This record gives sequence, structure tokens and C-alpha cells, in this order.
Amino acid sequence: MLKIEDINVYYGNIQALKGISLSINEGEIVTLIGANGAGKSTLLKSISGLLKPKQGKIIYEGDSIGGKAAQSIVKMGISHVPEGRRVFANMTVEENLQLGAYLRKDKAGIKQDMEKVYELFPRLLERLKQQSGTLSGGEQQMLAMGRALMAKPRLLLLDEPSMGLAPLLVKQIFHIIEEINKTGTTILLVEQNANLALSIADRAYVVETGRIVLSGKSEELTASEEIKNAYLGGH
Ligand code: ATP
Repeated sequence: MLKIEDINVYYGNIQALKGISLSINEGEIVTLIGANGAGKSTLLKSISGLLKPKQGKIIYEGDSIGGKAAQSIVKMGISHVPEGRRVFANMTVEENLQLGAYLRKDKAGIKQDMEKVYELFPRLLERLKQQSGTLSGGEQQMLAMGRALMAKPRLLLLDEPSMGLAPLLVKQIFHIIEEINKTGTTILLVEQNANLALSIADRAYVVETGRIVLSGKSEELTASEEIKNAYLGGH
């Protein structure tokens, strides 16, 4: 579904991604794990068109998308839930969700997807008219995910969905990620909590200072001594 070939991405003179290659198959949950500053968010931003690789290719369903406008990429079926959620604080929950569908014209489909979002996140339905800035952190994460789903993505990019949330809520959010995947959405998940990410992912890539240093099936990485010591707290 997605193939990244040897991309280099820079911020000015600073090279954040150094020849990254990876692939994602339709239907998978793939996770990127790695320390702060490794380049995980940069990779998601490169896929969703917020950053343009200087070299290398990003191929999505056979089309080269590296450097395409973010809006075209959303239209092609890739949605990005950024780190820190970024909901529109002065708008209501309902308005935020509607904005997620702004590139779509299929009114009936939009209505149907709105219902699906309410099923996944009943909490949002209870709070439709509430200003989004007054939602709790967990609710804002749900809203950011719901808004991304309103674009009807086939590939969903999630950046640190567990950040700052209480353990019970994190568990709920991860359960919902699995549900979203079961309905046919492929997922690329960036997560600091490697244990949790590996527990729901099919495969993982380990990123260190802009490079992929290891990759494999989640079970294999979970069992690896190297990964246990570096990312799973030695357990
Ligand atoms: P985190 O979990 O902390 O977000 P990350 O793995 O997602 O980590 P990135 O945010 O992708 O890491 O950052 C990769 C590198 O690029 C870091 O060295 C970071 O300082 C640098 N970087 C990120 N954003 C910018 C920016 N806007 N300008 C300059 N350098 C940046």
C-alpha cells in the first residue's frame, strides 16, 4: 500500500531523516518506535505532505506522493492525527468533526461516517455542542482521531496517541485503534510506549537518529534482547 524508498528530509541544514525505507501492507498496523527526536514525527509529516523529502520516493498505491500538497494526499486516502492533537479549540466537537470531511461531497456517506465515529467514541456524541478547547486530553485525542476518520482514510497516521493520558484511557484508545483497523483501515502508529505499540502492531520499525536500525514482526521484536533493553525497560 505504501512504500518509502530511501528518503532524506531536512529542516534547513539539519538532516532529520537519513535514507529511510519502509513498507506498509494493506490491513496492517505498523508501528514506529524510537527515542525522542529520532525522526518519527518527521516521517509521518513527510508521508502526509507537510514536509517534502529532498531525495527518495514515497509511493502510495502505485502513485508517487512525495512532495504532493497535503490536501491532495488527504483526498487520496491518507489522514494524519498529529502529536498534541491540534483540535480547533474555539469550535464545537461537531464542527471539528464536520471539518474533517471538508474535502468530501458525498453527503450521505459523511452522515454515515459521522454515525460510525459516534459508535467508536460515544463520549463525543455526548459532547457535540461543547467547545473543543474545554475537552479533557483524552476527549481531545478521541476528537482528533474522529476528525481524521471523517476524511474516510484508507491509511491512518497516528502520532503518539497515548501522550499525557491516564493508563485506563490509553487502554481504551488502543482498543479503539484495533477496532478502526478491523474495519479495514491500515494504520501507521508512532508511539513512545513501545510495549503497548508492539502489543497491537503486526510489524515494527525501530528509528534511531533518522535511520531505521531494526525491523520485524512485533513478536520477534518483543522477544529481542536488544529491544527489551533499549525500549521495553529491560522486561
Ligand atoms: P518526538 O517523539 O520527540 O516527537 P520524533 O522521533 O518524532 O521525536 P522528530 O520530531 O521527527 O522526532 O524530530 C527529528 C529531529 O528533527 C530532531 O532532531 C528534531 O530536533 C528535529 N526537528 C523537528 N522539527 C524541527 C523543526 N521544525 N526545525 C528544526 N528541527 C526540527
